[in-house]
Amino acid sequence: MKFGMAEVQQTSRGKDTRIVIIGAGISGVLMAIKLLERGLRNFVILEQAQAMGGTWRDNVYPGVACDVAAHLYSYSFEGNPWFQSRYAKGPDIWKYYHRVARRRGVLPFIEYGKQVTSAVFDGRRWQLSTSDGAAYSADVVIAAAGRLQQPVMPQIEGLESFAGPVFHTARWDQSLELAGKRVGLIGTGSSATQIVTALAGVVDRLSVFQRTAQWVFPVKDTANPWWRKLAFALWPGHWQSYYRQLRDETEARGKAATSSEEGRRARDQVCFDALASIRDPQLRAKLTPDYEVGCKRLVFSDGFHEAVQHPSVDIVVDPIERIVPGGVVTKDGKLHELDVLALATGFNAHAYIRPMQVTGENGVTLDEVWADLPLTYHSMAVPNMPNFLMINGPYSPGGTASVVGIVEVQVDYILQLIDRIVNMGVLLSPRAEPSQRWLETVREKARASVWGTGGCQM
Ligand code: NAP
Repeated sequence: MKFGMAEVQQTSRGKDTRIVIIGAGISGVLMAIKLLERGLRNFVILEQAQAMGGTWRDNVYPGVACDVAAHLYSYSFEGNPWFQSRYAKGPDIWKYYHRVARRRGVLPFIEYGKQVTSAVFDGRRWQLSTSDGAAYSADVVIAAAGRLQQPVMPQIEGLESFAGPVFHTARWDQSLELAGKRVGLIGTGSSATQIVTALAGVVDRLSVFQRTAQWVFPVKDTANPWWRKLAFALWPGHWQSYYRQLRDETEARGKAATSSEEGRRARDQVCFDALASIRDPQLRAKLTPDYEVGCKRLVFSDGFHEAVQHPSVDIVVDPIERIVPGGVVTKDGKLHELDVLALATGFNAHAYIRPMQVTGENGVTLDEVWADLPLTYHSMAVPNMPNFLMINGPYSPGGTASVVGIVEVQVDYILQLIDRIVNMGVLLSPRAEPSQRWLETVREKARASVWGTGGCQM
């Protein structure tokens, strides 16, 4: 990939180059590992929370897991031979990433409780402030702040009046005993689907408030046999080949489902068949989306179609009118009495980096550069923001690949820029014109894809 960057002379060079990484999730930890491998130790990771792990630290709701195969949802250079089954549970994923961070010597570089509130380029370096009043200077800033950081709280009348516990799925109260309770769940995305599958039959009643039905692709979670675990532990090369095999299969499947009519039909048919397995025609009708498969990110689940048919689960499709102390009132006037209310209402992924105030050269702010759409060069750099680089930034996620593989590619690219910055002492920022051109290419492709034509609200 060509750099498409403008560069001017800077001052710090070599190992004096000071780097600040924002965020100690999968991306930030990976960046740190790669800096350490290059012998660059003059960096800090500023983490707003009190522990590393990003999304896997925050999401501890019942059934939390990753619908990407565990061995693929790993760094390509270090596997965990002991994953119990094809799909890993949230706590096991957090443990894996924590273990890698510890083994690779990243943990001492993390400063906790440091929410970066502003980053200002002073013409030479970046000056950062954190919420606790501390200040940092950096030659290079790497934003690895994640996209799923800001829970969306639904704007529903009376939400604050609910008498029982109410919380977003990313703030799940694990101390709550749910057995025997009437639980309300707003939302039908991947988080909600995992919760439904985990709580059906466990709680007294589960009322799922569905605004939009989702296409759900059934998958089978299978235990990893002991001999495979042992082989991975004894021969890391064996794990590497397995990783590559999973990666190639996943890419081929994703490509087939997005670029060939036959592949798309095969994928869609799996979703149609799963839906057809719902025995009650009324329930089946409620769960039938009115848009094309793939328009919203597919929900993958082992068990949802069975769980949703459990007598304790109620799919409510009447729109929510308001929330009252005793539960949720729907437009038809019915009060759905609840003890606990969980909000599986997603995240403000578009807030990426914000509310941090970023001010680049000549006082230009990130909000100004991104006033229409986030303008980036290949998702990783922003015009007017010299040596300000992003991992898993806007336009990064793909619906069909492991995000870990995506951030590895981005980190490789960022390392090439860092080599240049360290060796030559330069300030690098992308020119506006190639960034615009790249953005147009992305938009054109998106418009022609099922995201543009599939008839869904994203
Ligand atoms: P999400 O996919 O954004 O889903 C949010 C749900 O809340 C949608 O059903 C939405 O309905 C509903 N909603 C939002 N506001 C509402 C309101 N005011 N009233 C009623 N319903 C409302 O959120 P998520 O399930 O937490 O997932 C977030 C991201 O994490 C996604 O990218 C997801 O793929 C990812 N994730 C991945 C995994 C994995 O295993 N890989 C697991 C969990 C989550 P509408 O559809 O009508 O907007």
